[in-house]
Formats: sequence, C-alpha cells, structure tokens
Amino acid sequence: MTTLRAPSARTVDALPVVAGYDLLGERFVEPRDPTALPNPYLVAFNAGVAELIGLDPAQAANPRFLELASGNARFAGVRSYAAVYAGHQFGVYVPQLGDGRAITLGEVIAPDGERWEWQLKGAGMTAYSRFADGRAVLRSTVREYLCSEAMHALGIPTTRALAIAGSDQLVYRERPETAAVLSRIAPSHVRFGTFEFFHHRDQLAELKTLADYVIERFYPQFLQAGDERFGLLLREVVLRTARLIARWQTVGFQHGVLNTDNMSILGLTLDYGPYGFMEAYDPAWICNHSDPYGRYRFEMQPTIGLWNCRALAVALSSLVEKDAALEALAAYEPAYIDHLQALLHAKFGLAQNAPDDVELFTQCFRALLDARVDYTTFFRRLAEVSREATEEDDRIAELFADRAPWEAWLERYRGRLEREAGDDLARRRRMLAVNPKYVLRNYLAQNAIEAAERRDFGEIARLAAVLRRPFDEQPERDAYGSLPPDWAAGLEVSCSS
Ligand code: AMP
Ligand code: MG
Repeated sequence: MTTLRAPSARTVDALPVVAGYDLLGERFVEPRDPTALPNPYLVAFNAGVAELIGLDPAQAANPRFLELASGNARFAGVRSYAAVYAGHQFGVYVPQLGDGRAITLGEVIAPDGERWEWQLKGAGMTAYSRFADGRAVLRSTVREYLCSEAMHALGIPTTRALAIAGSDQLVYRERPETAAVLSRIAPSHVRFGTFEFFHHRDQLAELKTLADYVIERFYPQFLQAGDERFGLLLREVVLRTARLIARWQTVGFQHGVLNTDNMSILGLTLDYGPYGFMEAYDPAWICNHSDPYGRYRFEMQPTIGLWNCRALAVALSSLVEKDAALEALAAYEPAYIDHLQALLHAKFGLAQNAPDDVELFTQCFRALLDARVDYTTFFRRLAEVSREATEEDDRIAELFADRAPWEAWLERYRGRLEREAGDDLARRRRMLAVNPKYVLRNYLAQNAIEAAERRDFGEIARLAAVLRRPFDEQPERDAYGSLPPDWAAGLEVSCSS
C-alpha cells in the first residue's frame, strides 16, 4: 500500500517559494543576499509555524533548513531583498528607514494556498542599515520568538516566528553579545511607514502601486469600489488597528515602540522590541527604558494608535478625499470602545450589558492601581469568585494589602452578578477561557535568554510550550504563572537589540 504524503510534510527544498513584494520594483526594495552567519546552530524551531507553511517539522534536523534560517543560503529562483520604508519615530518624521537588518527570502505557498513571507531578522547589512551592523542579538530574537507565539496563542493578530539560528559571532551593544537570526513569517511586512516613504517624497505613482498591491493581495473585497477603494482600505486599517490595540489593553500588553514604521498594514502586532506584559497594575507604566517621557506608556497606546492612523491618512492623501479620510479616522474611537467593552465584559464574566458596567470596571481598575495588584493573577482569580461568599474569597483578597476597598468592590460585583443569567460554573468557564493564566512575564523571558546564552535552549522550548496554552491549567508548569521574583524588579528592556 502506498501512503500519500501529507501536503504539510514537505522538505525545505520542496517548498514552493515565489517572488512577491519585490516584484513592485527597485523603488520598493533592494535585492540583497543575507550575510552568512558563521557556524550556525538551531536555537529554536516552531513546529506549529512549520506546519502552517507546509514544512515538515522533521526538517528542523535538515542541515539545509539551518542554512536557510541562518542566512547562509537562499532559495533558488527568487531574489532575497530588503524593503524601504520611513516612519514617525517618537513623533518625529524620519524620511528614510527600511529593513536595516531584515532580509526576506521569498514567499512560501502553503498547502492551503496562503502565501507567507519568510523574513530573516538579523541577516546582515542592507542599503538601509544606516549606522548599525545589520545584526540582532540572541536576547532580542528570543524575546520576539516567545512573545509573537504568546500573542498568537492569546488570539491576538501577530507576525509569527518559525525559528532562531544562533552563532558564537560577537556583536556589540552595551556589552558584547552573540548574533542570532530570527525567521519571521507574515503574509506581509508592509508598514504604515512604507506609505509615508512614498508620500513624503512625492512619489505618488509608487504610492498608488503600493496601495493597489496591498488591496489586491489582502483586501480584495475593495477592488470593485473604483477610486473609493483607497478610502475603504484606510477605514479597514483604522478598524483593525483600533481592535488590535483594544486586545493589547485587555491582556496588559505594551508594545513599547509604537512608531509608524512598526505599524502593520494588516493590523498585526509587529516588531517586538522592549515590550512587556503588565504585572503590577499601573496605566502609567512604561516598559521601554528608552522612552523616558512615556510617549508609548500603557495608557497611551489607544491614543497613539489613532495618531499613527492619522499619519497613514496623510500618507494616503493623494488617493483619499479629505472627507473620506476624516470619516475613516472617525471610525477609530467607536471601534476601539466597542471592542474594549466587549472584551472587558468577557474578562469580568458578564454576558449582558448594564448601564453602570463602565463604572464597575473603572472602580475595579482604581482598586488594582491603588494596591498595585498583578493584572494577570487578578483576573484569573476573579473567575473563582462565586455569588455567595466562600473560602475561595481569600485567594483574591490576599492580593490587596488594604482589603476594605477590595471588599466594597466585591460586594458591588456580586450585586451585578445577581443580575446575570447563568450560574457561577458557566461564568467561571467563560472567564478562564479569556483570562490567561500564563503570560510572557519579563523574568520568564530572561530565564530563557540566560539559559540560551549558556547554550541551553531547553527553556525556550519549555516556555514556548506553556505559552502556547495560556488559558489551560498546567499543574506541572504552575511555577510559570508565579509572580516575578525580587530580582526581576531590576530588569530593564530598551531599544537596544
Ligand atoms: P526598530 O527600533 O527595531 O523598529 O528599528 C528601527 C529601524 O532601525 C529599522 O529600520 C531597523 O531596520 C533599523 N535597525 C535596528 N537595529 C538595527 C541593526 N542592528 N542594524 C541595522 N539596522 C537596524
Ligand atoms: Mg521596527
């Protein structure tokens, strides 16, 4: 009997890889080979993403895979390239940025017909490297690998991570570190800043080419709309951005560097640098040590999302009438608020809407702030609360040094639960399915990084496996849900990567 080869079990050489974005021409990309990474070794491999692109996970052991993932080879028949873009960095327009250290190998056609750009981050210098070395350090590739997979498992749109190739080659940041290359996978890496680049240089034909490429490939539903397609594109990106940021807020994720060059035209979480998951609740929290004034602090993200959409609207102003642009931008706030409220209702286990719910949520967040309660732990334990007082109540009350404000809120919450249909058990089940037990706390990432720097890659795989099931109790991995140890208070993450 012959067994059929599953379509997802292709070798790396059997992957259909085609040209994509680079076909737009030399104004958009620089054809560029990756710089070889000396004596590479495989640091991490993501079987789930391999399957997504139709690559047999056993290919992790194929030396040819490592050659590609380290930038020591590229696919035959397609050019590898770096893309140009611009962007507002911390509010200031920078007319030329670009893939300074990212090189796209090509587009892999998955068994379901989807196409995925396979991009190497840290693959050496390009025409857009400016003053930097084109490399990424192991630390930052591990952080991006883990966080993008954690976000995906939380149901948040994001670029994905296929693998990390490491090397003993030294690169110099605040201290000497070793180089690594992240294989990042996404349908497209086009950014708001890609549009800004062409608009601000008055290259309006290229701008239109870019907009049409994005619409044809990713928003074909607007193709029939004639000249209005560009306004519809803007509106859809505005909506996706608003919803994306609502999702970030509800899991306590802070991106850290919300420059327009880090904003995906597909509404994906893109470019993981000094990000963080909120622990002690504080809306003014700044995760990025390189952001002293907190432009991108947690509570600013929704506002910055709109600011960035405005920059995109300006970049599209040769294609979108002013009224249509204003209308598209006006959709941001209601979309954000609607989505946020729906997500918060789910977090609090409320199936119905009541007029005083916003006040109920606000009072809760006030109590969390006053007591600096761990955000993730709080919502996980809130699921344990019943309509009647029980012994379980202590588990959540112990998170509050001063119990009086907490108890006042809990009474109010119980009153609110009385007005809900359904029983405690059903609510608990719903809450545990949206309030993660496991998020990528900085100290967990740090443990995995320090082990990897000693060439022990087991912790990356263990942690990734835990984060892949964030809502499940994993009793054998309980410790990964623990509050940060004291040493974690000294951890600083910055733009250096
Ligand atoms: P980021 O802060 O990572 O979003 O990077 C901002 C810009 O700097 C992007 O255009 C990057 O490609 C570029 N960049 C960051 N690090 C490097 C590096 N080590 N070498 C070359 N370019 C870099
Ligand atoms: Mg970036």
